[in-house]
Parts: sequence; structure tokens; C-alpha cells
Amino acid sequence: KGCVHLPDCLFCKIVEGTIPSRKVYEDDLVYAFHDIQPQAPVHLLVIPKKHIATMNDCQPEDQALLGHLLLASKKIAQEAGLEESGYRLVNNCGRDSGQLVFHIHWHILGGEPLGPLNA
Ligand code: 5GP
Ligand code: ZN
Repeated sequence: KGCVHLPDCLFCKIVEGTIPSRKVYEDDLVYAFHDIQPQAPVHLLVIPKKHIATMNDCQPEDQALLGHLLLASKKIAQEAGLEESGYRLVNNCGRDSGQLVFHIHWHILGGEPLGPLNA
């Protein structure tokens, strides 16, 4: 479905199913699964099936995909029971953010008070 998968990308392999994951949501453009090392009671990752390395690599042609991913993230957070309590949606981009996996992803964090970002 127009999805370019890189052979050496961890999250492309998760999309393809060659590396297992605990899926919570999938549609034609987006895949979401539990983070392997949760930093909160609920810690999910939302990724486009298309390989994009970082926010810096997003192009105007990705506009619809990115909007779709944000709306899917809202639905995923609601289905995880976070609508009323709230949650944090985080994208790390590049070195200073500590980005570890260079296939763009958004963390959904919730299930407890998360504290200020500058803590
Ligand atoms: P980043 O620091 O790049 O924003 O976040 C990468 C996230 O991917 C981390 O929270 C890390 O725990 C998670 N992660 C790394 N490898 C795997 C994996 O093989 N499976 C899953 N489910 N999560 C992973
Ligand atoms: Zn990838």
C-alpha cells in the first residue's frame, strides 16, 4: 500500500511482522503497539507504515498521512482508556531528543500523573 520498508529498520520489521509486537491498532497507513520498555502504566508507540526516519524528513506529501496518524493516535488513546485522565503524545527528533529508533514514531504515555516536562 505504497509503504516503503527498509530491511534494516526495526519498526519496518515490526510492521511486516518479522519482529513480534503487541499490536493495539492497525489500518492501511498506521500501526500501533506496546513499547517494550514502558515508562508509564500505558506506553504505546504509533508509527506510519511508510518508513520516514525523523520529523525532519517529513515532506509536504506526508501531510495527509501525518494528520491521519494524529487522529488515529486520539482513537488509540481513547481505546486505551486515557480519554478522561489524559495522556502525553511525544515525538523525539534527532540527537538531543534521545531518539533511538530512526523510524518516526509517537509515544502515547498515560495511566498516571506524568509530571512536568522539565522535571
Ligand atoms: P525513541 O527514544 O526513539 O523515541 O523511542 C524508541 C522506543 O522504542 C523506546 O521507548 C523503546 O523502549 C522502544 N523499543 C525499542 N525496541 C523495541 C522493540 O523491539 N519492540 C518494542 N515494542 N519497542 C521497542
Ligand atoms: Zn522503518
